[in-house]
Amino acid sequence: MEVEATPRRRSAFVTGAAGGIGTAIARRLHADGLDVTLCDLASTAERLDDLATTLDGPALARACSADVTDRAAVEAAVAAHVEAFGAIDVMVANAGIAITAGLLETTTQQWDRTMAVNVRGVFNCYSAAARQMVEHGTPGRLIGAASVAAHRAGKLQGAYSASKFAVRGLTQAVAQELAEHGITANCYSPGVVHTPMWESIDAALASRHGTPVGSEMSAMVASIPLGRLQVPDDVAGVVSFLASRDAAYITGQSLVVDGGMWFS
Ligand code: NAD
Repeated sequence: MEVEATPRRRSAFVTGAAGGIGTAIARRLHADGLDVTLCDLASTAERLDDLATTLDGPALARACSADVTDRAAVEAAVAAHVEAFGAIDVMVANAGIAITAGLLETTTQQWDRTMAVNVRGVFNCYSAAARQMVEHGTPGRLIGAASVAAHRAGKLQGAYSASKFAVRGLTQAVAQELAEHGITANCYSPGVVHTPMWESIDAALASRHGTPVGSEMSAMVASIPLGRLQVPDDVAGVVSFLASRDAAYITGQSLVVDGGMWFS
């Protein structure tokens, strides 16, 4: 009698996994039963190691340090993921940074850093993962962090919004190119999520307006129809869906998850 081979567990590589949304995504995908690589900057290595040890269950979790702006480092990290788990099914290019500055204040260095992390970083992650997916015949998922600011830019968000519009553009092109390999590419577009990123935006706005720290973030609630700030798990659930088999026929999209601030 022929013995059926045990199906390989799916796996996901999550960047920015030490941050607010990235940690929630990594936890959720692991709970969904995927083996996960938790990737972030070397400066967060201890936090990532701790997170990896808290994720128990049948699925595995491993930590890895890589700067997403460094193409060779990302390729090596994705190759190590494939070595550990046999293939890569899901790439979540989540790492990102935000600056809060108007056109006349934004320095060349701020502009270049924003583009390097938010755009080149996603390009590096998509391309490294797609190369492995094509080589292994994996019908994979490329998932990138965009933003509601990728649909409608706001004041003091020029560099950030431009970078997130670019993520949507890249995702649309890649979705068309890789469809013949059964690979989909989509992004998620959160609104105002309470994470260290929004805490730094709040601090920048508070110092600019002379308002108390925390007040700028809470003031955003008035513009959110669902009436509360977003939490990282609100985003993680959407990424879980995009990574799931139920989302197999969705590609090239930006899924806005913002409590109703913007209708795409
Ligand atoms: P965060 O600042 O809490 O976490 C970001 C993580 O990315 C950090 O752990 C950081 O170390 C990591 N990172 C930064 N630069 C990196 C690099 N070069 N290489 C590898 N890792 C790097 O941010 P967050 O709020 O969790 O945001 C996650 C993503 O969601 C970002 O792309 C962000 O633009 C997007 N987003 C966030 C919000 C929000 O309201 N917080 C809204 C829309 C979109």
